[in-house]
Amino acid sequence: MKKILTVVGARPQFVKAATLSRQFVKFNVDEKIVHTGQHYDANMSDVFFEEMEIPKPVYNLDIHGVGHGAMTGRMLEGIEQIIVKEKPDGVLVYGDTNSTLAGALAASKLHIPVIHVEAGLRSFNMQMPEEINRILTDRISSLLLCPTDTAVQNLRNEGFDNFDVKIVKNGDVMQDAALFYAEKASKKSQIIENLKLSNFALATIHRQENTDNPENLNGIVDALNAINSELQVVVPIHPRTRNILKSQNIVPEFMLIEPVGYFDMIMLLKNCELVLTDSGGVQKEAFFFGKQCVTMREQTEWVELVENGFNILSGTDAQRIISAFNESISRVSDFNLNLYGGGNAAEKAVLEILKF
Ligand code: UDP
Repeated sequence: MKKILTVVGARPQFVKAATLSRQFVKFNVDEKIVHTGQHYDANMSDVFFEEMEIPKPVYNLDIHGVGHGAMTGRMLEGIEQIIVKEKPDGVLVYGDTNSTLAGALAASKLHIPVIHVEAGLRSFNMQMPEEINRILTDRISSLLLCPTDTAVQNLRNEGFDNFDVKIVKNGDVMQDAALFYAEKASKKSQIIENLKLSNFALATIHRQENTDNPENLNGIVDALNAINSELQVVVPIHPRTRNILKSQNIVPEFMLIEPVGYFDMIMLLKNCELVLTDSGGVQKEAFFFGKQCVTMREQTEWVELVENGFNILSGTDAQRIISAFNESISRVSDFNLNLYGGGNAAEKAVLEILKF
């Protein structure tokens, strides 16, 4: 039986891990989950394990609330000890967080193959901590599981064909999650009724380049306030963003709610008129649920959404966000396009891992 050590730590990784964990059970792979503790609030972590029925982590390193260097360093040390003890056949990491890089680095130094799900994504913005994490993780991975053709091409452009690695396009596991949990969410979530929502825009803000830059954050808040006077704006607020708004005495006019679980998030996505976000995952989820998206950043890793007219990059200037909102809201799109694999990306990933 193959033994895989999965390293997760942040909210988007729980959503992604849910899809592969189910396939590991199906294909009789022994998966042991390490939670680094990067996200630890019940509504940023536990709710995902419960709702999505992700196997309980065997290890929890409980590392959070420190800077990037300390966080990555402590995780590296903790994960190394676990790898030495567990002796897995491979270490699986997702996406682009500090937990991703720490897991990949610990494994590669012990000569354990690293499997990277969501390999090859690039924003080409080296100011983003995520960009640094994903480039370094890709370089020390052995199996690179790419969600899109663009991701595969990015790796080829960086010379990955010359390295001893396997590059596979398996599709996007977040689409698997959206498809698999949509019906359960409709049955279980009552967020639309509870908040008495009818016409509304859904927005999320949490990228460090936006929260930590007052000009960017003010631009976003001003724009969402203006949009809110036309169409109600609902924002499940990330703890980092909430803390910064509080410390800067910014009191938005739009509706702030606590971070929601995945089922509630699906219902918000399904029922909204449009999405405004700086999240990576939420851009795609807007598409999965047939909604236009305004991305409040200058770049996106999901370029196919922009190229096909489902997403507008607005940056963070208030006027540009409002113009992008006005353009998006009047767009009529056919969302019936297979950009992300159609829901079997996790199964393809596990079949590749079994071959590896
Ligand atoms: N999400 C959620 N509740 C929220 C906000 C986001 O369940 O209040 C989900 C979202 O639907 C997506 C994942 O969390 O599946 C994305 O995480 P996030 O935006 O934090 O990270 P990113 O994708 O930008 O890395």
